[in-house]
Amino acid sequence: MSANDVVRFKTNPKASNAKPGKVWLVGAGPGDPDLLTVKALRVIQQADLILFDNLVSQAIRDLFPSSTPAFYVGKIKDAHSIPQEQLNELLVEKALQGLNVCRIKGGDAFVFGRGGEEMLRAKQEGVEVELIPGITAAAGCTSYAGIPLTHRGVSQGCTFVTGHAERELGVNWNSLAHLDHTLVFYMGLSKAEMISSNLITEGLAADTPAALIENGCCPEQRVIRGQLHELASMVERESVKSPALIVVGDVVKLADSLDWFKPLMDQTNSQKQIQKLSA
Ligand code: SAH
Repeated sequence: MSANDVVRFKTNPKASNAKPGKVWLVGAGPGDPDLLTVKALRVIQQADLILFDNLVSQAIRDLFPSSTPAFYVGKIKDAHSIPQEQLNELLVEKALQGLNVCRIKGGDAFVFGRGGEEMLRAKQEGVEVELIPGITAAAGCTSYAGIPLTHRGVSQGCTFVTGHAERELGVNWNSLAHLDHTLVFYMGLSKAEMISSNLITEGLAADTPAALIENGCCPEQRVIRGQLHELASMVERESVKSPALIVVGDVVKLADSLDWFKPLMDQTNSQKQIQKLSA
């Protein structure tokens, strides 16, 4: 069911109950349903209404109880299905009707997830909100790519940046170029050229290792590695699609030794092939 359906959704199973419901702001993690927290799963099972984004994977949607109304309210770049302000109002309205609403988003709601805006609006209206953290893409996808965000002797910190913001100029490229630690760019795919050229212009070495992680933590995960100066050509050459994360820093090289997920997937796939052939 789509965003328009949820706006029309007036069913109020708790109309006789004067007590308002609450909003659970749930981080679903980066896609693998096994990476949901126990609390997230419990809330999914308890909710009266579920509102989900496009980054909530199909495998996680499959865990929604079939008896619970669930609506897609996601935003696809340049095609916002439901404006953020309207969504904020919707959460308040449904909770005040007495429904316990599970508002579930990819990763963590407080990391480039606009969870703060939804929570502020609900709190302004006196609606009870509980936040359930999720594994943010930078943590989940790098783990599944065998790239530690920090590593003794290699990187003593990491910075998360969005490549897509209302105020692009808000990023201090000079500072980023001189941090000498891991940089992770969310929503940076269409800005790959701008990201690499700004960092190089501001002094980061053009041969700094860089990786693109597409569909991280999912069976289709792809990790494309190269150097900072070729970031945009990597995107083009490999036809990298969203969702994808950009990681810049020496830690990327560690994937040579630490990659564990791809070998596991390859092994699982070849076992499946053998089973198919011998069936
Ligand atoms: N709140 C989310 C981020 C939302 S912004 C979180 O905490 O992870 C959306 C961006 O997150 C995408 O454009 C992409 O850069 C990144 N992202 C989210 N899930 C991803 C995945 N499974 N693989 C790669 N990148 C992902």
